[in-house]
Amino acid sequence: MAVQFLAPESLQNLLTVLEASGYQVMGPQLSEGAIVYDHINDVADLPRGIETLQKPGSYKLQQTSSTRFFNWANGPAALKPLLYKARQALWSCEQVAQAVNGGFVFKDLVPQAVPTAVIGVRPCDIAAMLIQDEHFIQSEYCDPYYKAERDALFTVAVNCSSCAETCFCASTGDGPSLDDGYDLLMDELDSGFLIRAGSTKGEQVLKKLPVTAASEDLTAMAAEQSAHAAEKQKRYLLDENMHANLFSQLDNRRWHDIAERCLSCGNCTSVCPTCFCHRETEQAELDGQSTRHFREWSSCFNADHSVMHGHSLRDSSELRYRQWMLHKLGSWIYQYGRSGCVGCGRCIAWCPAGIDFPAEANAISGEVELWEA
Ligand code: SF4
Ligand code: SF4
Repeated sequence: MAVQFLAPESLQNLLTVLEASGYQVMGPQLSEGAIVYDHINDVADLPRGIETLQKPGSYKLQQTSSTRFFNWANGPAALKPLLYKARQALWSCEQVAQAVNGGFVFKDLVPQAVPTAVIGVRPCDIAAMLIQDEHFIQSEYCDPYYKAERDALFTVAVNCSSCAETCFCASTGDGPSLDDGYDLLMDELDSGFLIRAGSTKGEQVLKKLPVTAASEDLTAMAAEQSAHAAEKQKRYLLDENMHANLFSQLDNRRWHDIAERCLSCGNCTSVCPTCFCHRETEQAELDGQSTRHFREWSSCFNADHSVMHGHSLRDSSELRYRQWMLHKLGSWIYQYGRSGCVGCGRCIAWCPAGIDFPAEANAISGEVELWEA
């Protein structure tokens, strides 16, 4: 289906059609000084005219005179919390006197996922979702908990026209515009939206919207807008081959220097849209007859994450930071054919110590960064 034009005053129709198609709709909204995805049924609740100011260790919002709905760069939450839940019940066990197998009955707790449409997804977060798809669905063992949520998800992505200072998706090839992975994709211009479908589900929704064929002028304007957004990005990762350089720098002094600042708080891995480390816990019910088994987000910065036989293999921030970077930019390439970084910049803005992930990676692998903070 060709690129279509949707007038700004018809954006509400998109929400209405999605709801009528059986989806609960979520979209970007202001909450406690940040932009997060939450339930939405009125476009008046979108962060219209808001822009984000992001720097190492800093995230701020500012109201501008712009009338655009999607002029902000990503907030702390990506799609990850909707698909790979921070706490997921995996299975339960109940003691039943008449049961076989020693009197225990096990049940899996794969969720009945609610069909959910998310509007305003940033290109880097679609890229991150595709990486997590590969890990959870397309690897040898399919994760039914993630798959249930993923099958129920409908994405309305919006190409970025206003990047934050921390964004470097252009250098990883994951933004600021998208090629695939979405159900619907929009470009926001001052005069309205260009919109196209990327799936059969997307086509069905698009057919119900009051759209007209997009002119060549508007299509060219949107492409120019994305190119301009990419040009404005100052941060970058050297290239996908940096993993070989990083693995040759295991004793680099800079790991120690980073650890002098790193608090091992795990903020970076929590906000990272591709991180998937977890731990498993047991929750016994008070009746003493049953228990539930949970999967919870964890972090390679947690001291207990590398415990084996009672000892932590990575008992310092230096070793933990090195693990995080070498996995994300190094061994991930051997596992999945690409790095685990989509250039969203969240780990820079939400690091309380202001540690600049791409700057450190470039410096350790051979090039000292030159951009101004
Ligand atoms: S490593 Fe940092 S910039 Fe890269 S995807 Fe994770 S949070 Fe985003
Ligand atoms: S790099 Fe920053 S966010 Fe990550 S663990 Fe260290 S202090 Fe926390």
